[in-house]
Amino acid sequence: MKISFVDLKAQYQTIKPQIDLAIQQVIEETSFIGGSRVKSFEDSFAKAYGVKHCISTANGTDSLYIVLKMLGIGIGDEVITVANSWISSSEVISQTGAKPVFVDIDPVYYTIDENLLESKITVNTKCIIPVHLYGQMCNMDKISEIAKKFNIPILEDCAQSHFSEYKGIRAGLVGLAGSFSFYPGKNLGAYGDAGCLITNDDNLALKCRMFARHGALKKHEHDIEGINSRLDGIQAAILSVKLPHILEWTKQRNRVADLYSKLLSGIDEIAIPKRRPNTLHSFHLYVIRCDNRNELQEFLLKNGVQTAVHYPIALPNMNAYKYLGYSKNDFPVASNYQDRILSLPIYPELSDDQVVYIAELIKKYYEI
Ligand SMILES: *Cc1c(COP(=O)(O)O)cnc(C)c1O
Repeated sequence: MKISFVDLKAQYQTIKPQIDLAIQQVIEETSFIGGSRVKSFEDSFAKAYGVKHCISTANGTDSLYIVLKMLGIGIGDEVITVANSWISSSEVISQTGAKPVFVDIDPVYYTIDENLLESKITVNTKCIIPVHLYGQMCNMDKISEIAKKFNIPILEDCAQSHFSEYKGIRAGLVGLAGSFSFYPGKNLGAYGDAGCLITNDDNLALKCRMFARHGALKKHEHDIEGINSRLDGIQAAILSVKLPHILEWTKQRNRVADLYSKLLSGIDEIAIPKRRPNTLHSFHLYVIRCDNRNELQEFLLKNGVQTAVHYPIALPNMNAYKYLGYSKNDFPVASNYQDRILSLPIYPELSDDQVVYIAELIKKYYEI
């Protein structure tokens, strides 16, 4: 059996007539940039998510950057984020001129270690970017408490956590703003680059929308200089077709995760992902941890199963951040886990038989 790490075609086949029609309509309407399709996706995402404002952007990296800029963050400021994430979470901080300040990960949940957060706050700290990694939300009670104490805004990186919940509150709605990516492989994925940001703050929403559209809310009336970060009509139409399915797809991801956990729980050599209590995990990724990661990965590949690593180098260990002068001992958990984590295939269309096949292979590898 051959199982790829992601199978975007499997999902396309379940909604092909609607997707094909939507794309065709955008071409007929020639509403390639802006227009009714984009407005209608923003409205339906805001309604489905339960938020006042949804501002579409060109990608999830831009969404983060736009919010930081509109919070007035720049040279001399510090922004705190987590040691294990995709580089967007820290890259956008540097792009504003501010300094990225990393916090190690929690050894159980792999998200930012909230117990180390307060020690990283200085008078220059202007924002905290928790990343709800793999679909698991961070400890938002503790993070919110600290943010409140020091009066620092929270920008949630929800690129991997569409519709995840923490104590009944969706990702992106605990802090001041939330940022989403609709990169094709994300839980809600376009057929190209796409993203959005959400907030209930009217003033921030207005500023972000203006900045993302060259600083103009009305054509040719540029109140500030901005950037060009737009969702295009075809992506908006595709996302609108997919949006009504997201909760069912999240359920299916949880089915896959539950089955993996049931089948793998007896293997002592493997740590399976743990759900934080009172949360809805959206399982963008199902990440196990073991000592001989590379060997297991090779064994699975030889038997037709593609896996991946998120991420093989923790951010502070990257060449890009050498100038900050960190050593691996500064982030012991993230540095240890980067060599041990392995992401198994997970997507709504993955069948129980396929999950069983992968689990059996893993058991075979450990001679169980
Ligand atoms: C994907 C991702 C992003 C960036 O999204 P793009 O749309 O690719 O720019 C940001 N943060 C995290 C955690 C991501 O996984």
